[in-house]
Amino acid sequence: MIVEDERRIAAYVKRGLEEHGYAVDAVHTGQDALYWARSTPYDLILLDILLPPPNGLVVCRQLRQQGSGVPILMLTARGTVDERVSGLDAGADDYLVKPFSLKELLARMRALTRRSDGGDGLPVLRVADLTMDTTSRRVGRAGQEITLTAKEYAVLECFLREPDRVLTREAIAEHVWNYDVHHESNVVDVYIRNLRRKIDDGHDLKLLHTVRGAGYRLTAKGPPP
Ligand code: CA
Repeated sequence: MIVEDERRIAAYVKRGLEEHGYAVDAVHTGQDALYWARSTPYDLILLDILLPPPNGLVVCRQLRQQGSGVPILMLTARGTVDERVSGLDAGADDYLVKPFSLKELLARMRALTRRSDGGDGLPVLRVADLTMDTTSRRVGRAGQEITLTAKEYAVLECFLREPDRVLTREAIAEHVWNYDVHHESNVVDVYIRNLRRKIDDGHDLKLLHTVRGAGYRLTAKGPPP
């Protein structure tokens, strides 16, 4: 989620991140930020400080008081030491001074989401001989590189982060698209079909399985009984 009242900036960042495979909700006030953050399991929040109330510092503090551990990257117009310190004091994980480049934003976001994975933050996800290097964004199976679109990559990442678990179409859509595609769940089916072709065709061991009436599962344990 990006929280930024300057709509031009919010739209620019949203578009840029979407081109890199992120699903982004943009909100423009502190109040909306709190509302959406409480009801949605975001992977990361980009939070501007100067907002229609409550401001970003208050939003950040409140989320932490409510026990939220979501990575928060503060956006600040002025890079004064005081402002940086107050952002970190409020519970932000990092900050970025405006104006910033999309490239730098992406790098900071990658660092934060790696950190928030907990544990050792291994950048390579793996199921059987299927691997995804989340640093270089390379995907391969049995040593052969697989070329994916940004959205296909994002769908596959959902599965690789929760191997053996059944993911519903809705859960996948929530992570990869915005809320407005929920009712068009066949969008997900189309992506799964393409993914399956790319990762399973030509291999004896199929990894991506349909679980009838429930969703899909990535596993090396074979199809459901
Ligand atoms: Ca602002």
